[in-house]
Amino acid sequence: MKFPYSKARRGQLELIDRIRGVLGSKVFLKAPTGFGKTIVALMSHIHMGKVLYAVRTRNEMSPVIRELRRLGEDFTLIYSAARMCPLNKGGNSHEFWLNCKLLRSRNMCPYYQRLSEVSDDEVLEVLKGEGSTDPHKLVDNIVRRLGVCPFFALSRLVDRVPFIIVTYPYVFRNEVFDTAFDTVGRGDLYLVLDEAHTILNPAMVIDEELDVFTLDKAVKEVKSYRLGSEILGYLQGIMKVFHELRSSMLRRIDKSDILRDPSELFILQDALISLRIAKLRKAISPYELMSSSTALGRVVKFVEYLTQPSFQPYGYVDREGVKVIKVLTPDLKYIRDIVSAFKGALLMSGTLPSEEIIRKVMFSDAIYIDVEKEYGSVFPESNILVAIYAAVTSSYRHRSEEMYSAYRELIKEVAQKLKSGVAFFVYPSYSFMEGVIRELMVEGIRQVAEGYSTTFNDVMQLALKEKKLAVHAVAGGKLTEGLELLDSNGNSLIKVVVIAGVPYPQPDDFIKDLKSRLETSVGREVARKFVMDVQAAVKVAQAIGRAIRSEKDKAFIILADRRFLSRRLRDVLGLKYDIVTSELKEVLKALTEFTCSDAG
Ligand code: SF4
Repeated sequence: MKFPYSKARRGQLELIDRIRGVLGSKVFLKAPTGFGKTIVALMSHIHMGKVLYAVRTRNEMSPVIRELRRLGEDFTLIYSAARMCPLNKGGNSHEFWLNCKLLRSRNMCPYYQRLSEVSDDEVLEVLKGEGSTDPHKLVDNIVRRLGVCPFFALSRLVDRVPFIIVTYPYVFRNEVFDTAFDTVGRGDLYLVLDEAHTILNPAMVIDEELDVFTLDKAVKEVKSYRLGSEILGYLQGIMKVFHELRSSMLRRIDKSDILRDPSELFILQDALISLRIAKLRKAISPYELMSSSTALGRVVKFVEYLTQPSFQPYGYVDREGVKVIKVLTPDLKYIRDIVSAFKGALLMSGTLPSEEIIRKVMFSDAIYIDVEKEYGSVFPESNILVAIYAAVTSSYRHRSEEMYSAYRELIKEVAQKLKSGVAFFVYPSYSFMEGVIRELMVEGIRQVAEGYSTTFNDVMQLALKEKKLAVHAVAGGKLTEGLELLDSNGNSLIKVVVIAGVPYPQPDDFIKDLKSRLETSVGREVARKFVMDVQAAVKVAQAIGRAIRSEKDKAFIILADRRFLSRRLRDVLGLKYDIVTSELKEVLKALTEFTCSDAG
């Protein structure tokens, strides 16, 4: 087995052997982006058995595909079947499998029917021979060139190839896992999990939700298709629960207010089948059938999750005023059980908490490797300069118009000092962000604030077009977790990161439940540290990581909250504080000097 690059980074070859020697254990690997974790993960598993390589998003499959081709290893990839399906142009997903099953049973899906005419070798040839590493293009090519269903063609390869690249739901949702793996169980697979810090908050990994508008539509469907008074009464009972929601924070709902008896789920499922059959009579083509969906289907999926013992309903009113109920598990045991079901697991991230926390909270027998501690800094330490601005705090007790204004001043001055590139401002919540940027005017710089519809591509286009751009984002949100703003040479465009307030989780009922369940096993102190400090530190590290993608990148980091000085947060953050001040002009002076030295 030959390392496929001319030179390995310090620690890479040693790690391959080390991980290989402990396969079957739960190994946590902490290494920053740019270290080359992917090649280490793949090479440590080659010829050792079947590997399920899980990434959070479809786009994150590309580097894995690239490295597997470099290694000459066979692989398959599987993401949402609803998105892969060439007949499902509308993207309907909650009733997707029901529709697909109906089409297959009636021989109405030409892509499925052609599967027997195409060999596994032909599918592998598309995966291996194609220049692009874009999973969407590969799936399109299977449809265009071979004319077959990409989901079934790719999942058929599971038995044959050593590496299976999937998105998270194939790991954490049993019903999704079962769609692709009928001959192979978790116990037959080694798991490699990318961005493994995500699993420390179960709400980031698995949730189901229902909003009041969807429920209302379901009520109308039941009435118009005359599905019976029993089902109507049941849905109206849930509507009453929605009417009582008032808080913008997650509030626990008594499960029995929604699901008194598991038999209610069967009644719902029967009603859904009657509704689907009635709709099917109207659908004349496979495309029409696939695009038809029902609100009742959404309700059924929501209730199905509620029947699982570790799941609990929480309600809230979202930023648009819509009432929503989420079904979440506030129990890390759910995640631990799933990871433990695999033959072994390699859990990788640049922002993992300490070994002590991982062992106490996740697995007492975990093997923990911190690449930078053991093999030295991956990037020069001088590439970031960290300033603490202690004149402000986002603490609830001190939130006032005056405090928003102090943050606004900081942000305005920093944005004005930016010579070129992107200033990334990260807030603890949407409401805090709105409070600060409401009246923020900065001349000569374009601004964009994260919203429901903001996409990576929108921000990337702006960053490439504008000489200077201010991006406002929420910690733990879409942008801080996945944004990559690079120029044509692969250098990061983000020059300054301002963490505008410690991103502690909101003290909602979900967080309280997560904490209280942990307390029983690890005690109050560790539970508090994990639920508050560790979660905040992971979000801060993620946001900073957006700016440093390779050794060429330099960034000025401002941690703008006096609570960053607390011993507890300092311990979990593990950052060297270069400047600590309550004077804005000192922060700005250091920023100017850093920017000048960077330019020089
Ligand atoms: S192409 Fe046919 S078999 Fe494949 S997912 Fe779509 S409906 Fe189902």
